[in-house]
Amino acid sequence: MGVFIKNDEQISLMRTASKICARTHELLQKHIKPGVTTGELSAIAEDFIQSNDAKPSFLGYRGFPAAICASVNNEVIHGVPGLRKLLSGDIISIDIGVCFKRFHGDAARTIAVGTISEMHQKLIDVTEQSFFAGVKCCTESNRLHDISNAIDDYVKPFGFGIVQEWCGHGVGRQVHEDPQIPHTRQEKRGPRLRRGMTLAIEPMINIGTYDISMLDDTWTVVTRDGEYSAHYENTVLITDGEPEILTL
Ligand code: MG
Repeated sequence: MGVFIKNDEQISLMRTASKICARTHELLQKHIKPGVTTGELSAIAEDFIQSNDAKPSFLGYRGFPAAICASVNNEVIHGVPGLRKLLSGDIISIDIGVCFKRFHGDAARTIAVGTISEMHQKLIDVTEQSFFAGVKCCTESNRLHDISNAIDDYVKPFGFGIVQEWCGHGVGRQVHEDPQIPHTRQEKRGPRLRRGMTLAIEPMINIGTYDISMLDDTWTVVTRDGEYSAHYENTVLITDGEPEILTL
C-alpha cells in the first residue's frame, strides 16, 4: 500500500477533525487533577467529540473499549480508561483520535497531575521538544528517515530511552495508514516527503531503557523497568513550504 496524498477537500476535513481533537485535549487538561478517574476523562472526551458531530476514532478500533487512551506513569501507550483515580505526582498520557466525515486527526499529550518531580517534568519537556525537532524536517525535499533521525539526535544527549516497537504513522482516511514512522535513527531513507501527506509523529520516551512489555489486559504497553514514560503527538500536513501542525 502506498502513501496516500490528500486533496484539498480531504485536508479540509482533516483540519476540522484535528481542531476538534485539539479542543478535546484543552478541555481534558482542565479536568486533569488529583481525584479524577481516567474513565471520567474518557467520558468527558466522548461527549465533547460527539457534540461536535464527530466520533472518537479509537472507540471500537480493533475492539478498544473507550474513547481515549489514558496511560499513567510507567504506562507508555494504549492505557484503558477505568476506575483509576489520578494522584498528585502522577503523569498521564492522553491519546485522542477524532473522526469527522470519515477523516481522522490524532494527537497525544502527557500532562502533570498536581505537583510532579523535576525529572518527570524534564521527561515531558524533552518528549515534546523531540516532536518539534522531527517536525523541522517535514519539508518536501526530505525523506522520511530525516524525521526519525532528528528525533533520535534530539533525545540521545538526555539519556532517555526511545520506544522502538511502536511508531508514528500516516493518518487521514484511516487512523493508522502508511508510512510507518520510527522515532529512532534509520539507515533506510524511506519515501520522499510530498505535499498532501499527513503524518502522525508521536515520540514515546522513557526515563529508563526503551524496553517495553504488555499488561494482561492485552492493551496497555508499559516500561519493562517500571520507569515513567511520556508521549507527544500531532497530525502534521506536508506542504510546499513549512509543515502545518493540524492538531495544535
Ligand atoms: Mg495517537
